[in-house]
Amino acid sequence: MNDDLFALEHRKQLTLRSGKERLITNRHPWIFAGAIAKESGPSDAAIADLIDQSGTRVASGFHSPHSQIRMRALTFGGEELTSQTIADRIEAAITRRKRFVNELTNAVRLVHAEGDELSGLVIDRYNDVVVIEIANHGIDRLRPLIVDVLRRELAPRGIYVKNDLPVRKLERLTLESEWLGAGEPPTEIVENGLRFHVDPAEGQKTGFFLDQRGNRALTREYASGARVLNLFSYSGAFGVYAAAGGASEIENVDVSAKAVELAQTNHAMNGFEANVRQTTADAFGYVRKLASERAQFDLIVVDPPAFAKSRGEVDRAARGYKDINLYAMKLLAPGGRILTFSCSGHVTSDLFQKIVFSAALDAGKRMSFLRRLSAGPDHPVSLYCPEGEYLKGFLLQCD
Ligand code: SAH
Repeated sequence: MNDDLFALEHRKQLTLRSGKERLITNRHPWIFAGAIAKESGPSDAAIADLIDQSGTRVASGFHSPHSQIRMRALTFGGEELTSQTIADRIEAAITRRKRFVNELTNAVRLVHAEGDELSGLVIDRYNDVVVIEIANHGIDRLRPLIVDVLRRELAPRGIYVKNDLPVRKLERLTLESEWLGAGEPPTEIVENGLRFHVDPAEGQKTGFFLDQRGNRALTREYASGARVLNLFSYSGAFGVYAAAGGASEIENVDVSAKAVELAQTNHAMNGFEANVRQTTADAFGYVRKLASERAQFDLIVVDPPAFAKSRGEVDRAARGYKDINLYAMKLLAPGGRILTFSCSGHVTSDLFQKIVFSAALDAGKRMSFLRRLSAGPDHPVSLYCPEGEYLKGFLLQCD
């Protein structure tokens, strides 16, 4: 059935507009409707071929009839796209992740969309459970193929197909998630030797923010004896690492009561309940309250959700990042450090640096950065699709 979707007569034919050949040379996987002169073939095709004006195939990929990104190119030039190509790419991505899994860590991003040449597909492994997140029509139709490969390669207890991405609505795909497995989706992972409860069904995103693994480890290094404020704490994972690193006090702050409960569970699971405060509050208001009380912290984590979900929201997002960073800096004790992040794809690293600079000026603090931060190496970014680099951050130090 899957192979059938790759049959020539079941593919969509897209003709590239003349003058748009550069797109192919640059190997960017997103082929927008505006670059297409003519379309033919079945409208619900999973796979599309892109042909140039002379009728030569120049790329093949996932087809999206309802998205402005009409095709996500997977192969270019003469390279064939078959079901085996997809299986091979998933297997290769899993093999590349083997180095990150050991007795101390059993949760890892297995497939990172364009970074693994599988635009629109994210697969996370949480110990015995695998979570699939699909963002476009073509790959959604290939779900049985993906499930087969994962079962064969990993034999997980269960696979959770998380269908809650807002973009699925635009792609006219179901928003109903699906559990294919034994028992229930929640599981327990270890990450750098620390334990966390992960619920793919109820949790945010696929259940846990794997992209911050390395930055959490950095927090542990800098936490010794520190008073730690963890803003936008979700699972409390930065707080758990800070406790493991010997922090003297930790305060986790999140607006979601469910997240705060999860943070509590995670601290308890690791035996780190002493000197931890779990606060349910809006971080923007709460930092103002702390500042008015002249509270001081030695290590502050600022890891908000994406404030800019589209290009049009960048200005508003910049004001949000500036505000929260300004207050974080005001709350910083002399010699203190901040780990600050933006996971908005539309806020570039350059812009984020300017925002943080402007916050430091207004806070009247002498700040320098010790490191630039990003997602970990299980979140590769394709050079042909730099948009995949969404997470950026700084480890800042107050002089
Ligand atoms: N640092 C976390 C991930 C943070 S995700 C980790 O390592 O796992 C962003 C979190 O911000 C979510 O849990 C969300 O509930 C919370 N959030 C969103 N808006 C908020 C606000 N205004 N104040 C406090 N928390 C907020």
